[in-house]
Amino acid sequence: MYNRNKIHIIILLVAVIIALLTVLVSLFVHSKQKEDILGYDIKRQQMVENQIVARGITSKKVIKAMLKVPRHQFVSEELSASAYEDRPLPIGEGQTISQPYIVALMTKELKLSSNHKVLEIGTGSGYQAAILAEIADEVYTVEIITSLYETAKERLSTMYPEVKVSNHDGYYGWEEYAPYDRIIVTAAPDHIPRPLIDQLIDGGIMIIPVGPPGYSQVLWKVTKEGDNVLTERICDVTFVPLVREQ
Ligand code: SAH
Repeated sequence: MYNRNKIHIIILLVAVIIALLTVLVSLFVHSKQKEDILGYDIKRQQMVENQIVARGITSKKVIKAMLKVPRHQFVSEELSASAYEDRPLPIGEGQTISQPYIVALMTKELKLSSNHKVLEIGTGSGYQAAILAEIADEVYTVEIITSLYETAKERLSTMYPEVKVSNHDGYYGWEEYAPYDRIIVTAAPDHIPRPLIDQLIDGGIMIIPVGPPGYSQVLWKVTKEGDNVLTERICDVTFVPLVREQ
């Protein structure tokens, strides 16, 4: 009698465990299906293959970061379906998140290592900062427009809490944490700001678009060597202007 009860309890326990496992497995499968329906992972892989690798970017670090960062979470919900297209997208306040290829190209040209301290001017959506944070340990980013700063800060604080964000005119860099191993500027000034050169370490690299608003801008690789500043032209680009605090 006693043994029978024991067997009943064991059978009941096994049944409960099987039922629980079934629920867990179906929840897991369902969440995977949901992800598949939206197709973001696949779109991101296609973006990397067709827009980045196909155009000659071979850096493993850059490819890995671009495969990982969920670009659709850096634009508004209405635009998330377009997040992996081969173009810049509006992020509000007349600003744009750069085309994925340009993000990859600029990141590649930075020759970033994990031990680098990197400064970005022009946080915008926070997407470029997230890509940098996938590669480098210390990322600082500056945004002049307060509403964009607030949205990006909130977004990065959950996804990349180690990234430091500030709301000021990035023409002056971010003196408090200088010098930087690398600087990336994602809005175009009409000349290379002196404070940014000053805040670069000796041997440091800065990637910066320079030129008048809208056209005829050139993306430059700037290398600081002692008192010398070497500039190499990368390609023609179109960026929003680097605006100055009034
Ligand atoms: N890197 C961003 C996109 C940059 S768009 C991203 O990944 O989404 C350029 C950004 O530079 C805009 O958000 C613009 O407001 C900002 N910006 C323009 N002038 C600036 C300045 N002087 N200092 C800091 N940010 C500036």
